[in-house]
Amino acid sequence: MQDYLQGLNERQREAVLHIHGPIMIIAGAGSGKTKVLTTRIAHLMASGVDAFNILALTFTNKAAKEMKERVEHILGNNEARNLYIGTFHSVFARILRADAHRLGYPNNFTIYDTDDAKSVVKTVINEMHLDDKLYKPATVYNRISAAKNALVTPLDYANDYYIQQEDMRANRPALAKIYDAYCKRCFKNGAMDFDDLLLKFYELLKTFPDLLSKYQHKFKFILIDEYQDTNPAQYAIIKMLGAMHENVCVVGDDAQSIYSFRGATIQNILQFQKDYDDVKVVKLEQNYRSTQNIINAANSVISKNKGQIPKVLFTENASGEKIKVVKTMSDNDEGKFIADTIQEQKLRNHFANKDFAILYRTNAQSRAFEEALRRLNIPYTIYGGISFYQRKEIKDLLAYLRLIINTKDEEALKRIINYPTRGIGKTTVDKIILLANTHNITMWEVLENAPQFGFRSGTLEAINEFVTMIKSFISMLGKHNAYEVAFHVGKQTNLVKELFNDKSTEGLQKYENIQELLNSIKEWVESPDNEEGEVVDKTLGAYLQQITLLTDADEKDPDADTVKLMTIHAAKGLEFECVFAAGLEEMLFPNAMSINTRDELEEERRLFYVVITRAKKKLWITYAHTRYKFGSLVQNEPSRFIEELPEEFLDRTYAGGGTRLSSSFSPGGSAFDRLNGGWGQDTLLDAERKYGPPPSKKTTPSYLSPKPEPKVKEHTPTPGFVASDVSE
Ligand code: ATP
Ligand code: MG
Repeated sequence: MQDYLQGLNERQREAVLHIHGPIMIIAGAGSGKTKVLTTRIAHLMASGVDAFNILALTFTNKAAKEMKERVEHILGNNEARNLYIGTFHSVFARILRADAHRLGYPNNFTIYDTDDAKSVVKTVINEMHLDDKLYKPATVYNRISAAKNALVTPLDYANDYYIQQEDMRANRPALAKIYDAYCKRCFKNGAMDFDDLLLKFYELLKTFPDLLSKYQHKFKFILIDEYQDTNPAQYAIIKMLGAMHENVCVVGDDAQSIYSFRGATIQNILQFQKDYDDVKVVKLEQNYRSTQNIINAANSVISKNKGQIPKVLFTENASGEKIKVVKTMSDNDEGKFIADTIQEQKLRNHFANKDFAILYRTNAQSRAFEEALRRLNIPYTIYGGISFYQRKEIKDLLAYLRLIINTKDEEALKRIINYPTRGIGKTTVDKIILLANTHNITMWEVLENAPQFGFRSGTLEAINEFVTMIKSFISMLGKHNAYEVAFHVGKQTNLVKELFNDKSTEGLQKYENIQELLNSIKEWVESPDNEEGEVVDKTLGAYLQQITLLTDADEKDPDADTVKLMTIHAAKGLEFECVFAAGLEEMLFPNAMSINTRDELEEERRLFYVVITRAKKKLWITYAHTRYKFGSLVQNEPSRFIEELPEEFLDRTYAGGGTRLSSSFSPGGSAFDRLNGGWGQDTLLDAERKYGPPPSKKTTPSYLSPKPEPKVKEHTPTPGFVASDVSE
């Protein structure tokens, strides 16, 4: 076992060694909060606490995996695999699989991802004959999601005077009814959306004292990272779970609270201190991550925010280089500058690709960086593209699997009832839906009893064949593992054959993706470390649940030697040797959507604090003078956040347009130009030569920017599902 206490400073050690009683560590970026949490888990286990009694909640599954590996490394054994560690959603989903029936759900309930959930919202809106232009499914879904995360039930929602007033003003009086109908429909489908994973667990604990007691006994020690971004539902659950032993340890940084748009509230930090009289509060003040210049700049940024818990952050690291603030002509030039600089830094300072991160405010910005990196053959990984599991062909096969696990799952059924085509057209599907609603039964029950409902004979035959096929899959469930079932389903449904016969590049890619899916199921079935407590669960139900909660970040190898591209939100908790904070322009960052109130602006500023503090050694802040937004070229002002940085920490540079920046980073443009943050005559002329005369100044909110192209993840086809399997 490692001497895990040795590398810690006194405060950190104090936090690790405090075993019993509530403890809160609120400290600035890079001060070792996550390190303390990890070491604390190791210390608990080294002190004899059983891993089964420890619940650790992280912000991503990836963070959980890393934490588990570090604990294993410290302890020199693999006991850590028995920890309950993961995101709130994944841990609670696992628990709900044991007890959801107490709330009337099947234990193999389906988890609806955001797309499924929006589709249910849309169905409900249509069935209520409401205008889906007025009630946009995405907006309605967000509103429902916010209500759930605030523990506002449909009944509370309908009875709350202020909420009702608000909805009246927003011209959406039917929202309470939609919310109610949506919940009922999900329940009828035997499905929970992501928010339900919190809400239903909360309801279980609240409704059934035996279950509350069971989990209170089980989770003797609770640890939460990134506590500043928890929402009221998460807070309430932790409070209940921790009430018996009060061994709750939370770590966070109010200056990094960046998810209030999802209902997170830093009130949870303040409340934590009120909830426990004997809470131990530990402050960590030394940053081990970044240079002095970076920390000084970060401190000065966050000091502009009014609502902060006062705290100190210093570092004994070297003062380091100044932060480079780089202006480019266009977004493409920004991409080019960044790619060139990476190339140069690799040569000059021997950095690896993985030492670089390009961080931005919105996903749409990634295009220019990708193009520039590709041109220089610099390998990169982009986070925030569509997950492998969101691809159409993958969702199609998964829909079959979902349906055979839970025949109530209407979203799955609608997706594949006529795919591949089998003569059950839209009119028939509409009729099935109508019958299901009229008789208050599920669509599947209509299909099973189709002869009673007067379908035309051809249709009836198609339906019966479909039902027989699905039932034959269901009969495999107890006897075969997830891979065998999935393989058989892919083959029998002709879904794989259909893709195999499509010889276009796209068709080939889809076929390969399906193969990849089947391979990954096989791998999962064969992996030894998939233990749920003592029981190894290799069933299809267990498989489906864990993949629904995967994000694209979980599918990527963090150690791959690639430049990482992601939004600042996704970079929370991470660190890189070199960081490019890109697109520091007014309306983009701070974002046009978030400058209407002081609170919104302060959250944007916290986001700026987060991006600065991801850098260990070198930080570039870039902005483009012009950027294509929504098809037209728009001129941008530099972000106000740049002006808030004290000049002494900065090295301002102009990287030109279309030309290579001098490698010494000597300032370009005229001194006057730089001083005034404006544009010299030459560069303006250059711009006109390149783009034509500048348009009259206008800004387009970035939320109107076109969505990025879905990124194609490279999947090498592997043997296992060959043409002969499908072409018979
Ligand atoms: P964030 O607020 O960004 O989540 P954090 O407070 O969780 O940051 P960590 O990620 O735990 O900070 O630590 C930041 C870096 O400092 C890590 O590389 C970590 O290994 C290192 N570090 C932390 N404590 C020490 C220490 N006592 N000695 C040396 N390095 C340390
Ligand atoms: Mg951390």
